[in-house]
Amino acid sequence: MRCDMCSASGELYRTSIEEAELVVCQKCSKFGKVISKVKQHQERKEKSFAAVSEKEESIEIISKNYAGNIKAARESLNLTQKELAQKLNEKESLIHQLESSHYEPSLELAKKLGSFLKINMIEEYKEKHENLQSKKAEAFTLGDFIKVKKKN
Ligand SMILES: [Zn+2]
Repeated sequence: MRCDMCSASGELYRTSIEEAELVVCQKCSKFGKVISKVKQHQERKEKSFAAVSEKEESIEIISKNYAGNIKAARESLNLTQKELAQKLNEKESLIHQLESSHYEPSLELAKKLGSFLKINMIEEYKEKHENLQSKKAEAFTLGDFIKVKKKN
């Protein structure tokens, strides 16, 4: 809160100056008649406050047991590596590498394998992030707290 007349800060006085009620500093209050001293705790400050918002982020990763899962699912379907490869339109060597943990499938391949073998190839991790957003309160305008009363 600042003086209506000279914008000085500090001790302020609600003062009647030329038929208007203004909040002014001690110096400016001499131009009129002081009505009351403005209590500092009534001061409206521009505040900034932190708003915590949670954001969930899900991360898809290949299941750690992909190799064993592929093998088990393939065997339960009574398919050889070659047959599975043919059904997926992939190379037999790829299936072999997958089942021996030598090759970690891409998410795309994992989804393809998962949907064919009806196994869960992907693990979803949900990570919670706390975002500290600093929001600036709307700046007040002089009009918000200066009530100029014209005397009749
Ligand atoms: Zn002043």
